[in-house]
Amino acid sequence: MSEEPQLPPIPDIGIDAITRKKRFYEKINTVVKCGNCHENYTREFKKGDYTFKKLSGESCPKCNEGQSLMITEIFSEWIDPKKEKKKK
Ligand SMILES: [Zn+2]
Repeated sequence: MSEEPQLPPIPDIGIDAITRKKRFYEKINTVVKCGNCHENYTREFKKGDYTFKKLSGESCPKCNEGQSLMITEIFSEWIDPKKEKKKK
């Protein structure tokens, strides 16, 4: 009934984001590549992790070699606490 431009649906997106943040929590993962067996594996993000960092004091879960581990990727995912509890 007016000629005002339509506002983008910001309120909807905002509410969705708030609900999601209340229920879910963000989990940060680190992808590590083993230079020994060329296996990629994901483990929980640890403080000080950054992409292309060479890891020491850790070992590959597949070959137990810890000499050539390097972080290739860091990503985050939203975890549903309810689902997490069901796993255990
Ligand atoms: Zn390995």
